[in-house]
Amino acid sequence: QTPTFPNGQPKKTLVVLGTGWGAVSLLQSLDTTMYNVVVISPRNYFLFTPLLTSTPMGTVNLKSIVEPIRAILGRSKGDVKFYEAQAIDVDPAQKKILVRSAVGDKNNNGNESISGDLKLPDHGVKNISYDYLVVSVGAESTTFNIPGVQENAYFMKEVTDAERVRARILDNIEKASFLPVGDTRRKQLLNFLVVGGGPTGVEFAAELQDFVKQDLKKWLPELSKEVKISLVEALPSILNMFDQSLIDYTQTLLKHENIDLKLNTMVKKVTKNSIVASNEGKEVEIPYGLLVWSTGNKPRVLTQKIMSKLEEQTDRRGLLINDNLQLLGAEDSIYALGDCTFHPGFVPTAQVAYQEGRYLAKTLEALFKVEQIKWELDNNQELPTKKIVRLQKELSKHESSIVAFQYSHMGTLAYIGSEKAIADLNIAGSQYKLSGGPLLYWFWKSVYLTMCISLRNRVMVTADWINAYIFGRDSSV
Ligand code: FAD
Ligand code: NAD
Repeated sequence: QTPTFPNGQPKKTLVVLGTGWGAVSLLQSLDTTMYNVVVISPRNYFLFTPLLTSTPMGTVNLKSIVEPIRAILGRSKGDVKFYEAQAIDVDPAQKKILVRSAVGDKNNNGNESISGDLKLPDHGVKNISYDYLVVSVGAESTTFNIPGVQENAYFMKEVTDAERVRARILDNIEKASFLPVGDTRRKQLLNFLVVGGGPTGVEFAAELQDFVKQDLKKWLPELSKEVKISLVEALPSILNMFDQSLIDYTQTLLKHENIDLKLNTMVKKVTKNSIVASNEGKEVEIPYGLLVWSTGNKPRVLTQKIMSKLEEQTDRRGLLINDNLQLLGAEDSIYALGDCTFHPGFVPTAQVAYQEGRYLAKTLEALFKVEQIKWELDNNQELPTKKIVRLQKELSKHESSIVAFQYSHMGTLAYIGSEKAIADLNIAGSQYKLSGGPLLYWFWKSVYLTMCISLRNRVMVTADWINAYIFGRDSSV
């Protein structure tokens, strides 16, 4: 049964796919009494990705950077339905989506998966109709179809990835300490290889080196000297979105901290124990004990399905949208934001997705007001002329408030280890290129604390940092 407002106007159904940066920013800003809001995501929590690379080593606990979606929705003005499910297909013509329960899907990776023998009716699959659909399903880690990556590498995108990496690092250390010094297997186990010199790869390598230097050194001083961390990057330098001065600063620091930077090295193949890469025309083989793969994003299966249904979707890198975040080919009913979209002006970051979410909340509120006035004008034959004139003025005011999305880039920050950070800031139109510590390190921490989406997260992250500082990182599984 379609819900209605007290004046009889039907309430439109707004379906939001995802519980990441874009979706949560939208849901936190939107007056949810205006729509019948349904949220669908295989993840029943929001993940604060900027601190994900701090979790495998125990600098920050995973629980501290997730916020239950029901807690977020509970703070919303209206009632919002949440289904722990993934959208597996969208029918833009019929305005319907097909969802499948994701309860029991431990990977929560947004790929198609069966919800097991949960005995849900129709195998946990159902159709949901929408008036407006917001696609904010993010992206998945790309492998560029390089042979062996999917089977052998660890990723750094989801909670489950961080858990696996943590377990594997600790296992490798324990296994290595079981073997005699000089054993080739011991050497291999302690060879940690990170592929991709973007911010994810750099921040992870930096956190790992901090752990080795500050914690492992205390527990296993001899073994800690044998740990080797390498960062492999296809291009001539890492962190290519940063200013050259910050790139130079980071590369010098990483080398000084004994992180082996392998630049101009493009991985071509991965085997169980080594990578094969091309370096300035030569083929090189590099053994590893743990391989962490962070070479960027690719569209999810659902995103690809949507693209294949609309002839206006001509770019394989992501969903094409107009300046109002409307999906090309389904402008009347589908919006898309965040990492699932492709826009030449925007890098896939939390900052972009967050601002898009806030913009969309405003747009949807204005749209609601436009539709409300139109409904009143269409369904009230006996309105006095004065009221009609007033309503028409209000209508044009709300219509003209729907303007194009403008992204405001605040800058980029990255933690590079040894309590140092880099920042490429844009403040009131002025550019600031900053590097070093400890002031910048504290600035980095305070920015990330401010970005946390709940007070609970802020308190827990602060407590973790204090804990790690006083007692060291928790290196138990
Ligand atoms: P996501 O946040 O990935 O959310 C996607 C949501 O969709 C998830 O809830 C997912 O479960 C859900 N979903 C997936 N498939 C389906 C489906 N079929 N149906 C329904 N729901 C689905 N950016 C910054 O600006 N600053 C940083 O410091 C920073 N650090 C990062 C560190 C790491 C380790 C990583 C991996 C990324 C980092 N980013 C950072 C990038 C940032 O996390 C992304 O740009 C941001 O998450 C994009 O938001 P989104 O809402 O588009 O996608
Ligand atoms: P990325 O796309 O930023 O970097 C991937 C790197 O991998 C590139 O430098 C690329 O040249 C390299 N690469 C690709 N294929 C390779 C191969 N075969 N061999 C060796 N190197 C290869 O990816 P990311 O670091 O995962 O980041 C994803 C997104 O999240 C980006 O938009 C990034 O800006 C954002 N992010 C931001 C922050 C931050 O602001 N601190 C932190 C993490 C992620």
